[in-house]
Amino acid sequence: MRKKISPPRIKESPAQNKRSSYGVPSQEVWQHSVRFLKGVGPRLEVFLQRLGISQLGDLCYYFPLRYEDRRTLTSIKDIVEGESFLVSGKVLARNVKPSYLFRGAGIRGLFEILLGDNTGNIKCVWFNQPYLKEYINVGEELLVYGKTVKFHNKLQFNSPQYEKVTSSDKDSFNFGRIVGIYRLTEGLTQKKIRKIIFDCLGRYTAYLEDPLPFTIRGEKKFSNISQSLKNIHFPPSFEEANAARERFIFEELFFSQIMVYLRKAKRVLQKGIPFTISPQCIQKMRESLPFRLTPSQENALGLISEDMQKSYPMHRLLQGDVGSGKTAVALFALAICADNGFQASLMVPTEVLAYQHYKNIVETFKDYDFNVGCLVSSITPQERQSIMQGLRSGTIDIVIGTHSLLEEDVKFKQLGLVIIDEQHKFGVAQRALLPKKGVNPDCLVMSATPIPRSLALSLYGDLDLAIINELPPGRKSPQTIVREEDRRKEVYEFVAQRLRQGRQAYIIYPVIEESQDIELQSLKEKFLDLKKEFKGFHIEMFHGRLQKEEKLKIIEQFKNNKIKILVATTVIEVGIDIENATVMVVENPERFGLAQLHQLRGRIRRSVYEPYFILIKRQELGDAAKKRLAIIEKINDGFKLAEEDLLLRGPGDFFGHFQWGFPALKIANPLKDIEILKDARKAAYQLIKKDPYLNAPHHKQMRKRLQSWLTK
Ligand code: ADP
Ligand code: MG
Repeated sequence: MRKKISPPRIKESPAQNKRSSYGVPSQEVWQHSVRFLKGVGPRLEVFLQRLGISQLGDLCYYFPLRYEDRRTLTSIKDIVEGESFLVSGKVLARNVKPSYLFRGAGIRGLFEILLGDNTGNIKCVWFNQPYLKEYINVGEELLVYGKTVKFHNKLQFNSPQYEKVTSSDKDSFNFGRIVGIYRLTEGLTQKKIRKIIFDCLGRYTAYLEDPLPFTIRGEKKFSNISQSLKNIHFPPSFEEANAARERFIFEELFFSQIMVYLRKAKRVLQKGIPFTISPQCIQKMRESLPFRLTPSQENALGLISEDMQKSYPMHRLLQGDVGSGKTAVALFALAICADNGFQASLMVPTEVLAYQHYKNIVETFKDYDFNVGCLVSSITPQERQSIMQGLRSGTIDIVIGTHSLLEEDVKFKQLGLVIIDEQHKFGVAQRALLPKKGVNPDCLVMSATPIPRSLALSLYGDLDLAIINELPPGRKSPQTIVREEDRRKEVYEFVAQRLRQGRQAYIIYPVIEESQDIELQSLKEKFLDLKKEFKGFHIEMFHGRLQKEEKLKIIEQFKNNKIKILVATTVIEVGIDIENATVMVVENPERFGLAQLHQLRGRIRRSVYEPYFILIKRQELGDAAKKRLAIIEKINDGFKLAEEDLLLRGPGDFFGHFQWGFPALKIANPLKDIEILKDARKAAYQLIKKDPYLNAPHHKQMRKRLQSWLTK
């Protein structure tokens, strides 16, 4: 027998006086600390903070990841194996098994009960929760929800959700309804977070003002804020949950679009540097390069030159797959800036890359009288002093550097251009620092993790976009080959064969934390094995902890084809450019993300020889890792790969790389919600056209919301 139990309702708080019980004007209720809530003490506050929740607004917008349907009570006799059920019954017996019974199984004790209703009984088992014995007693009424499993030929619940049924529990927010499942952190349970949200909504929704303007809500037929919050956290039906989700997805995208328009409007009003572009300068640059630009490099250069001539600062993202030649385009921008008598800077994530760019730039600009400097952390204090002096006095025209450029005492005389390479390797705050060393300098950021154009335009509308969508002519796409451990010999033989043909190879190990001695130690051991394996070939090891001189020497020798095999960590990942190295073997590829694997693969795409990218994987892999390897094996195109990555990882994680002072998206997935995104973009555009400064009284709440976002 199945029967419906009616879901409890959230009680309305009286809304007659639009002031909260704390006497604070209603608009600010969103910003009250969660400490205002009953039962939230200092400990819980810390746990909530770990989830990014400190104000009531954060809590209200902490949406469930998914839902469970716990509306229907099932009689115990109707339960079957492998599905989720809600049952209500009496505790008939209980039993505690201490941990020594489970030695070796990693179980710290077990608590079990026999739960019975008038149709039968079932065992419920909880592991590692010894405290339950203080809480659950024989004779008590319990609601239990969970998935059934068969054990010793009988059905039971393993670690089900549970709740005591007492007379006051008519208002259960855990059972008898559709319940939300939230992302948690240590110290929090689903029940606890549900309870806090339940209390919060019950007490405060009446005081919350809707951030979405009334007209837009009407047009889209969205419920108001308090109804929508209730429906998304404690939905009466799945339809209502979905409608509420849609509203919040729209709201999130709508606000991000408004921000985009506001930012752009603000930037256009700023006074930047209108550079003059002399045809001679451009011509000379073309002649200094050993190749012709591809049409899409030309296109990007065109956009960038236009930007640089404008009176407001450039703010452009240059996207192009690994090896597409972004640097060449950047060089033109550096030359234009220096030619105008301003200082230009190029920031890169690693020292090795800084030196590579530096050499490249010195070489390209050898016929110019530009003074080029390189600022990294491992130079001597004297060298550093002299570069700093050059930057301050303006004698250095172009500087290449790492994070060192960001240090407070690095000052420029007249910084005109900031270029950030491999921008995803820098944090939001870091990226913002360098431009602050000048007065509204032009800003170009480069990325090899491209996102689809439609998304980029919509989401990062305040970053103009240039795309290089082709590789220089003659480039071959690497063949990606996934092999299991047991074919390692074969792989090594293949590598040796390529080496005998004159090529060079990388063997990459995933040393995640180079500061960890253990990992470095194991790398060294592997290196010794490989040395034996590849007797007769010059083989070297390369990792982040080597001294700077050592690093440069090894890269130089590898470049000159003295070293045949480089056993390296992922420090090699970004930007290193060695044409003859066309084979790369990656160990434990499951430990890398898609973007990282693609970056690595980019290292061997620079040559006219057939490149091979070989991944040696463990036999047993998790689903996510399997999926990633299948994708990397199949897809060579960086744009398509990024799209897959976005789908796989979800927007929060993925877009972290692209955030330019925008709050992270919490509920919208711009790839899946592209239609809502277009809609939101249109609505935002119309609104800004009518009320560009959001001055209208009915936009006040929206303005507040945007301000609180901006200051976060
Ligand atoms: P990325 O976009 O990954 O930063 P790079 O700028 O490092 O790529 O360029 C990769 C390699 O391609 C470099 O060796 C560069 O000299 C070369 N290259 C760039 N543009 C062209 C071109 N138009 N024709 C031939 N080679 C080019
Ligand atoms: Mg590059």
